[in-house]
Amino acid sequence: MDIETRKEHLDRRINSAARRVGREPSEIKLLAVSKTRSAETIRALAALGQHAFGENYLQEAVDKINQLDDLDLEWHFIGQMQRNKTAAVAENFDWVQSSDRLVIAERLSAPRPANMDELNVCIQMRMSDEAGKGGIAPEALFPLADAINSLPGLVLRGLMTIPENTTEIDRLKRIFRKMNSLYSRLKTRYDTVDTLSMGMTSDFELAIEEGSTMIRVGTALFGPRNHGKSSIR
Ligand SMILES: *Cc1c(COP(=O)(O)O)cnc(C)c1O
Repeated sequence: MDIETRKEHLDRRINSAARRVGREPSEIKLLAVSKTRSAETIRALAALGQHAFGENYLQEAVDKINQLDDLDLEWHFIGQMQRNKTAAVAENFDWVQSSDRLVIAERLSAPRPANMDELNVCIQMRMSDEAGKGGIAPEALFPLADAINSLPGLVLRGLMTIPENTTEIDRLKRIFRKMNSLYSRLKTRYDTVDTLSMGMTSDFELAIEEGSTMIRVGTALFGPRNHGKSSIR
C-alpha cells in the first residue's frame, strides 16, 4: 500500500471513530510519528497535507528537521528526554510531549531562542505500573503543572500517555477515561490547555471515543518499522 492510500484509510477510520461518539473529526489532530522514516518519506506525507510530525531520537530528528527546513512543519519531541539534550530539543522542536520532571522543564525553559514562539509542553502521565518508561503518577500532576505553567518560554498545552502494552479493551478504556478526567481538571485550571495526546496505531479509535484530541500514529501511516529491538521503536 502506498502512503497516500494509507493516509486515506487512516483518515476514514479517524472520521468514523469520531462520528460514532458524536465528535467532529476536526477536533482530533493527527501527529505522524516519523521515527526511523526518511526525510523523503516525510516530504511525501507533507505533500499530502500532513503538518505535524513526532520524533523520538534527537540526532535523527535534527538531521531530518534540517533537511526539511524548506517546509513549514510542526515538530513534536515524544521520546525519552535526557538532561544533557534539553537545549537541542528546545532549539529544534515546537512541542515536547514527554515532560515528566521539573528539572527537565527548567532546562527546556532557559534556552528557547528569543525569536521563536513559546515551546508547547505536554506532561507525560504514567497510568499503570506496567506502563513503559517515563511519565508521572496522577498524584504528581498538579504540582508539576503549576511549576511548568510559571516557567518562561513554555506554554502548558496538556497531557500525553503511552499506555501499557495490552490488548485488553477494558484496561485501556479505564486508562483513557482517567486521562480524560485529569485533562478536564487541568483545563479548568489553565486556559492554555487544549491537548489530550493519547492513541497510537493499535488503540487510536478507542482513544478518540474516550476524548483524545491528538493521536500519535506511525505504523498505520508508514507501514511496519523494520529495525530496532524495542517494541516502541
Ligand atoms: C512510536 C510511538 C508512537 C507510534 O506508534 P505506532 O504504534 O507505530 O503508531 C506513538 N507515540 C510514541 C510516544 C511513540 O514512541
